[in-house]
Amino acid sequence: MTTDEFVARSHILHRSFSERPAKIVAGDGISLVLESGKKVIDASCGPSVSCLGHSQPEITEAITNHLKNDIAYVYSGSPYTNGATEELADILLSEKPGGLSKAIFVNSGSEATDAALKLAVQYWHERGQPQRTHFIARKQSYHGNTIGALCVSGHESRREFYKDFMSSNVTFVDPCYAYRMKGDDESDEEFAQRLGRQFEDEILRIGPDRVAGFVAETVSGTTLGCLPAVPGYFRAIRDICDRYGVLLILDEIICGMGKTGTMHAWEQEGIRGPDIQTIGKALGAGFVPLSGVLLHQKIFDALSAGSGGLAHGHTFQAHPLACAAAVAAQRIIKRDNLIERTAQMGHKLEALLRKEIGPMALVGDIRGRGLFWAVEFVLDKSLKTAFSPKANFCNQVVKHCLDSGLNILGNLGHTGEYQVDHVLVCPPYTVTESELEEIVSLLMAAIVKTSEPFV
Ligand code: PLP
Repeated sequence: MTTDEFVARSHILHRSFSERPAKIVAGDGISLVLESGKKVIDASCGPSVSCLGHSQPEITEAITNHLKNDIAYVYSGSPYTNGATEELADILLSEKPGGLSKAIFVNSGSEATDAALKLAVQYWHERGQPQRTHFIARKQSYHGNTIGALCVSGHESRREFYKDFMSSNVTFVDPCYAYRMKGDDESDEEFAQRLGRQFEDEILRIGPDRVAGFVAETVSGTTLGCLPAVPGYFRAIRDICDRYGVLLILDEIICGMGKTGTMHAWEQEGIRGPDIQTIGKALGAGFVPLSGVLLHQKIFDALSAGSGGLAHGHTFQAHPLACAAAVAAQRIIKRDNLIERTAQMGHKLEALLRKEIGPMALVGDIRGRGLFWAVEFVLDKSLKTAFSPKANFCNQVVKHCLDSGLNILGNLGHTGEYQVDHVLVCPPYTVTESELEEIVSLLMAAIVKTSEPFV
């Protein structure tokens, strides 16, 4: 069957109409098994999701055990709760990281973003400042694909069709993209301060009493490619938020839950933490969809002293099955010290990427943290010239990787001013050193092949 015939025949509307997706029939450790029997190392965990790989009998058992209770579903909007949901929130928050003390669980990252925005608006209503409905977000950012999440996402191509729905109550400041935006003679500290001043100016332009919150990914994921901020950036942002009472909302849907080598990526920023944080993807290791919002005690206190409830909810929020899977995943991560391991293996991955891939002619930058890394490609290394989008460089690399048995994620969409042609390498926390070597060597070979017409 040709691709066109397959696409026409399939009743699933796939994202691309020009490619025939390969059918996955099984998982095996960190690999996926295709219908043809071929194995593919899943070195990006889908879009950075399956952080424990694909064979986890303990999670399978936790899910089946949960179903043995014969409870189809518990509506957490009704007067009920369940053990799995309570336990998951305890695991995440019993030590109150950064003062975060309550959780809301929903199903996707985009829903978590929407819930976080609504929570911030509700907070200001409860505090007697209902005019605080303005959000400041960052250009070339991504916080999800629902209309609410797109409103705060500086992702131009994903917003394009829906411009009429985008809120004028959201404005954007520059991201912390040092590779292209930091001046040649500018130190990290000066760059951080410059971005801080831009953020503060924006608060003053809008009027501090109108700004509800600032939304940012702690480590930017798909639009700017595993991009940590320069040291001091988030300290400056946190200080400015505090000065004007603006809520700091950190999106850790892609970078959180251990991926950067600490449970929360913000722990490496020298700040006390966000006021609201979103989590997702690795939270449940991908077995059942789950995401969440963590909120600071002060948010809960305001709601508690005000209307006494949450003005938000979904039918499937805090689904017990998803929470049971996530409890099992989080127990494994804790028992096997996988976050420490992620930090250690991350150093190995970084060293391999820098040694083997860094010197390649068309590789402009390598960046990331823990097991969350990106390689950015450029046509001219010294000038940092981007490829023409038509070259589709990163996706050619992805294709060559797939041919040789490696799954990585490429990202090229038009997200804003800078074309960030990159691939993401974010293998499971269980990856071994020899698997890392294999991943980097397959990636290197794919880059060599893709580079041929350009060098
Ligand atoms: N926020 C970030 C940082 C993301 O990377 C994503 C997805 O890639 C989302 C939000 C949206 O998550 P979802 O696709 O689960 O809705």
